[in-house]
Amino acid sequence: MEKNIFNKKTKIVATLGPSSETVEVLEQMIRNGLNVMRFNFSHGAYEWHEQVMKNVRIAAKNVGVPIAILADLQGPRVRTHVAEEVVIASGETIRLFDVSQTDEEIAQQAHDVKYLTLDCPHIVDAISVGNEILIEDGLMKLKAVDKTEQYVVCDVVDGGTVKNHKGINIPDASIPLPTMTKKDYDDLAFALAHDVDYIALSFVRNGQDIVDVRQHMQKILGEEVFLPKIVSKIECKEALGNLERILTATDAVMIARGDLGIEMDPTTIAILEKDILEKSIHHLRPVIVATQMLASMEHNARPTRAEVADVTNAVADHTDAVMLSGESSMGAYPVESVATMAQIAAHTECSPYDDIHEAMSIAFSSEEVRIAHATYDFAKEMQAQAIVIYSESGYTGRMLSHYRPEQQIIVVTNRQKTYNQLALVWGVQSFLAEGKESREECILHAIDTAKEKGILYSGDLVITILGTTKKGKKLTLTGTRLV
Ligand code: ATP
Ligand code: MG
Ligand code: MG
Repeated sequence: MEKNIFNKKTKIVATLGPSSETVEVLEQMIRNGLNVMRFNFSHGAYEWHEQVMKNVRIAAKNVGVPIAILADLQGPRVRTHVAEEVVIASGETIRLFDVSQTDEEIAQQAHDVKYLTLDCPHIVDAISVGNEILIEDGLMKLKAVDKTEQYVVCDVVDGGTVKNHKGINIPDASIPLPTMTKKDYDDLAFALAHDVDYIALSFVRNGQDIVDVRQHMQKILGEEVFLPKIVSKIECKEALGNLERILTATDAVMIARGDLGIEMDPTTIAILEKDILEKSIHHLRPVIVATQMLASMEHNARPTRAEVADVTNAVADHTDAVMLSGESSMGAYPVESVATMAQIAAHTECSPYDDIHEAMSIAFSSEEVRIAHATYDFAKEMQAQAIVIYSESGYTGRMLSHYRPEQQIIVVTNRQKTYNQLALVWGVQSFLAEGKESREECILHAIDTAKEKGILYSGDLVITILGTTKKGKKLTLTGTRLV
């Protein structure tokens, strides 16, 4: 018998690429527990993204489960701009220019001193003496020791060969690029035209970045439409300083450990991860732990023990989702990587170390929050098997998920977008109402579907909430023993 993928509560996100582009492979990944498909707009042409998004929708339909599509925008990435490779040796002094001057002007200024140019205009103004400049994922390192109006004088700390178009990180400088570049706006327009469920913003720096993008989407799509939800990638120092404001403004969070480990001391990453996880959950924001989780599975059929421990710890810290990057996009074992993650999640969830027995607190209070908490308590008291909710926006489902109840959270909705978006949320199984009229009918339909899928059985006790209606607030909490 096939594994029941509904028994796992932690969700899995996979980056798609050449290893995971066909309907066949995508279907296998879904059958092994994949919930969210990530498209990285730093790579691949629009034609590729378009075709593979179609394939994802087909695969999801074939398997009959909700799948969310996440479009990840590149963001303000500074890169090297060099005509030829430049070899820099540790201990030597070089000059750093940017493209606000022409190549001729730069060559004149540099005289005979070795120099590099960065592709971001006015980045020289933004660099202060004392700043560290990291090249190509921190492979090479410079330190700013002096500056003029035209260039920065740098000591080479860790040398190497600088190639063109390699990523630059300057952890202590404020990069003079908007969080959304021209390319990002183009990619966003493409993503909206293809009806994606989530948009990920790279190098988010403050809450306003997020508010602006949401307004922009609303302008394009109109007020009536349910928008894609925004995932803020936490991957720079500035974001850590503004974490509270980012959490208030965003819909969800990704702990992007790759760049974060360059911007911050990499030996502090696991502590930062725990801290961001706790705060995100407290703010009711679904959270994804990302980068290198099963990195060795890009080439090997089995993970290292340390990788297993990494995924285990993220699950035990109550993350909503764990993510695959190169393992699923370009690795040799995309399906096995998903299956491995799903197994680790399932084992961890039923271990005593995944201590979900105490309700977590929420950063704000409202009538809905109190009802969710009461439902959580009621379900626990009654030793129920599931909590079934009708919801248009998915809000009540997300709130209940936040408490990490032992029960399955079943959300029935008449909105395709809500159905898809809940794929990211811990412990939630969503179903489409499919033309049912009343909320009661929708709930009954969800219970029937859950029984067909082996999620619920006769004799199970189910708690249902009938939520607010447009005419007024009417809330009914009931416990029903299934026949
Ligand atoms: P990020 O900083 O956003 O994570 P990345 O370059 O590390 O960017 P990942 O999304 O982690 O990219 O994916 C890992 C690798 O998989 C990429 O470096 C790239 O080589 C490959 N890849 C990802 N998406 C695609 C794609 N759409 N087409 C081709 N290759 C891809
Ligand atoms: Mg990144
Ligand atoms: Mg990456």
